[in-house]
Amino acid sequence: MNPARKTSLKLARPKSAPYVSTTNACKLCTPLGACLAFRGVENTVPFLHGSQGCATYMRRYIISHFREPVDIASSSLGEKHAIYGGSQNLKQGLQNVMSKYGPQLIGVATTCLTETIGDNVPMFVKEFQEEHGGNGHEAAMPLIVTVSSPSYHGTHMEGFHQAVRALIDRLAEPAERTASVNLLPGFGSPADIRHIKEIMTDFGLTAIILPDISETLDGPILATYARIPAGGTPLADIKIMSGSQATLEFGATLKNQDTAGKLLETRGGGTLYQVGQPIGLRETDFYFGLLEVLAGRPTPIKHVLERGRLLDALVDGHKYVFGKRAVVYGEEDLVVGLTAFLAEIGIHPVLCASGGDSGYLKEAITAVTADLLPNPPQIRGGVDFYDIAQEAGSLAPDLIVGHSKGYHLARRWKIPLIRVGFPIHDRFGGHRILHLGYRGAQQLLDRIINAILAKKQEDSPVGYGYL
Ligand code: SF4
Repeated sequence: MNPARKTSLKLARPKSAPYVSTTNACKLCTPLGACLAFRGVENTVPFLHGSQGCATYMRRYIISHFREPVDIASSSLGEKHAIYGGSQNLKQGLQNVMSKYGPQLIGVATTCLTETIGDNVPMFVKEFQEEHGGNGHEAAMPLIVTVSSPSYHGTHMEGFHQAVRALIDRLAEPAERTASVNLLPGFGSPADIRHIKEIMTDFGLTAIILPDISETLDGPILATYARIPAGGTPLADIKIMSGSQATLEFGATLKNQDTAGKLLETRGGGTLYQVGQPIGLRETDFYFGLLEVLAGRPTPIKHVLERGRLLDALVDGHKYVFGKRAVVYGEEDLVVGLTAFLAEIGIHPVLCASGGDSGYLKEAITAVTADLLPNPPQIRGGVDFYDIAQEAGSLAPDLIVGHSKGYHLARRWKIPLIRVGFPIHDRFGGHRILHLGYRGAQQLLDRIINAILAKKQEDSPVGYGYL
């Protein structure tokens, strides 16, 4: 990048306005993450205890990325409930969901409002079950799992992980030891989940994946609308997760959190392996090495060949990417994986940023890049897009890697945005982007190189037909 451009890249907060709050957040709302996790469970309806506005915002976000109809029920609180509490609306809402959807499970997430007024949701749910479950109606009563998810405390990833933990807490029972492997994949795309299922099958491993959004958020077209989409982790499988031989939990920054994997371990769920998302060559190598141990067999030839093709592409593409500078932002674990991948293909990540603030972002990035980068990147947790713009202004990036919310920066800086993660509102097929495994690394590499080539063509006064 031309150094003369550096100063024009800065996007400073207005000087007259003192900093008072997050502006243009680089994270999403906590209960939205919980709803996404609940959506990956069989015959389940996500339910927000809060206002219609929260549910509408979340539906809009999720639908514009996944391009699927997504129902999120709501207790539809108004002003008076902020004073008198939302107990009656919650119970009425649960009753409505039961009669309209007939789900096996309702996943209830709280919102900023209901956490602020202090609604005791577990108690309300208990009352509801006592009021409606008696008189021979027990069989019709769905399971109800609650999660506390105030959005002023955390990001959508905290909501996601807490919902998965709540599901295990509520459903997992003591079980006979089996050869199954639990896989807690965190938040990937449906394409990612399909791919890790394929890998487990190829290794001959029986996997219980929680949550499984591969069909529920990317299903086939139907002749008639299904109120609850097919797919999702079967409830019967969640019940026996504590009998599995091991649990794999994706998340390089989950170290200090009370996760679903740790809970399963205390309930006898075999050995817990907390690993980074298998993004890029080395993290995928590590993951496949672990699967070799668990499956007791070498990596299947299909994946050996995919790895070989990836290496070939890395050699072919090195001249295009070497020395390029990148800004990476998004969910913490995705940022860790993408940073590792960029570093190993020869791109220098100059700023790694997230709205999440686990406190482990720096440690996790250092662990995966220490021997790859002569100059460590700037690493920032708990930031918004103003912070990112200010930091990146002097770093002269050639490209940025993240979700659609960074588009305004890419446009301002006239550099390519490589769209990954969630949300992707301004392109088609965001939910089919593959990030994981050798195949995902191959596809990411192709997209990055093609974006760099397209930029070169656009910037050229004559254009090139052969690059
Ligand atoms: S941030 Fe709070 S108020 Fe806004 S949509 Fe999320 S839960 Fe509702």
